[in-house]
Amino acid sequence: MDISNAVFHGLKPEFDDITSAFRATVNQPSGIVNEAREVVKIARAFTEEVIRPSMGLLDAAVTDDPQYLPWDFVKKANEWGLYSMFIPKIFGGKGYNFSCVNFFIEELGSACLAMANLVGVHYLGYGLLISSWNLRLINRISREIVKKEKKGELCLVSLAMTEPDAGTDSQNVELMNTGNLRCFAKKVPGGYFLTGTKIFISNGHLSTWHVVHAYTDPEKASENTVMLLVNSGFDGFSLGKKENKMGQKGCPASELIFKDCFIPDDHVCIDNVQIQKLKRSPEKTNEQIFAYIWGASRASVGTFGVAGARGAYETALKFAAATTINNSKLINQEWCQSLLARMYSNVAVARTACYEATQANAQHGLWKLMNHKIMYYTVRLTPGWVFKTFSGLFNLPLATTLIRKINLDRQEDHEIGRVDGWGSIAKITGTDAAMENCRLAMELMGQAGVRTDSGLEKIIRDVRLLQIYEGTNEINRLNVFKRFIQKSCPESEVFSKTNV
Ligand SMILES: Cc1cc2nc3c(=O)[nH]c(=O)nc-3n(C[C@H](O)[C@H](O)[C@H](O)COP(=O)(O)OP(=O)(O)OC[C@H]3O[C@@H](n4cnc5c(N)ncnc54)[C@H](O)[C@@H]3O)c2cc1C
Repeated sequence: MDISNAVFHGLKPEFDDITSAFRATVNQPSGIVNEAREVVKIARAFTEEVIRPSMGLLDAAVTDDPQYLPWDFVKKANEWGLYSMFIPKIFGGKGYNFSCVNFFIEELGSACLAMANLVGVHYLGYGLLISSWNLRLINRISREIVKKEKKGELCLVSLAMTEPDAGTDSQNVELMNTGNLRCFAKKVPGGYFLTGTKIFISNGHLSTWHVVHAYTDPEKASENTVMLLVNSGFDGFSLGKKENKMGQKGCPASELIFKDCFIPDDHVCIDNVQIQKLKRSPEKTNEQIFAYIWGASRASVGTFGVAGARGAYETALKFAAATTINNSKLINQEWCQSLLARMYSNVAVARTACYEATQANAQHGLWKLMNHKIMYYTVRLTPGWVFKTFSGLFNLPLATTLIRKINLDRQEDHEIGRVDGWGSIAKITGTDAAMENCRLAMELMGQAGVRTDSGLEKIIRDVRLLQIYEGTNEINRLNVFKRFIQKSCPESEVFSKTNV
């Protein structure tokens, strides 16, 4: 093999690619640490009071009746205020910092991933809405969620990209034009007519709002994407089947059907008319929006992985502590201690990877502005009524223009890459750790592990899905190549047409 002809560009990683958390310790407002403690306290109380007593029952209820919907659980979560917890205070929410969201979902998910998802997916949909940086719509939907929550009514948000013939292909600009995307948005005076089907949409049956990706030209989808905000009551919208899944049964994966569904212009989060005012091309802007949402949400799916890994570890630990073999406690056997130590380390390493990704978002991604010290303390010290009084300012087109200048035009390519790349690393590390810990727990528990009452078999079913959604782990590995490795070998191609 002759490597002398290969072109390399600095094989060593750039310092800023190595760590985000290191720099974040200087930049981050210290108040966030106390917020994280509070968030974990709330999550632990909710887990003990609501999740643990009902998680087995929900799994069994959906096994008995695959069409069962967990209304009781989401209403409880709503009563606890979980759906407005991470909505910024300037938009009327409780305003817990987004950097704390992963501490929160780790607690919920270590007991039950399906129930954790029933809360987490709402922030996935909401996060995609934020990624459009359409301040008028972000403010409107945020305030609706909060208002309804106060009245005891639900207002959840879902994210809808996947289609019957395009999963991976709907989530990467490089693959969109060769994929089979069909959701068609036809521009007409006053809005768009939307026709097509989305599948596997988490919380679809439970959500009031759906943030939907559609295409004005599906053959060239990467440069003709429209992000639309669809209400479940709109004419032309209907719910299709609910998937009968093996894992995360409690969290519905839904089919959304649009037939000439009219979406008025004031429900367009972003389209090419708006993108024309930005610095980057439509395709580059779409890629940037994907990086915003995946950077954040893959860090969270990685954290679901941490939660699953922790659940498997805790189940194995309890078993080891309670089991005696030949008059000797299992937990005192060195092989058992060694297995538990491997599992504990897997959790710790995966959590660290997710924390790096969280901090990459805090430095350059979705919650960069909210983590700016001046912004953070100004928002914390200002009473909520002030924001409510002046919230009409968010309706001014100038407000959206300004925020897009800051978050889209001024975000640099290397920042986009770092946020997106770390999201993938977190997702792969967390979800693979979860599968590995399930395997180790099975090794430790033997036959007892496959019994339903052990809790482990449910964790295994739940964890497997984490390697699939938000980009399969295979795709996320390619994304790590694209974001961190490719620049060392500028002649290399990733997601190249020769591989499709
Ligand atoms: C429980 C659940 C919940 C979900 N929730 C949502 C949701 O809320 N919203 C939403 O929009 N979607 C959701 N999804 C869809 C999910 O994001 C997709 O399933 C995922 O992106 C994979 O797409 P696919 O299933 O069509 O598989 P495919 O894209 O068909 O992939 C099949 C296999 O081929 C591999 N592959 C595909 N393309 C390439 C390539 N170019 N190079 C190398 N390998 C490749 C993949 O890694 C995979 O192993 C959910 C899915 C599940 C299972």
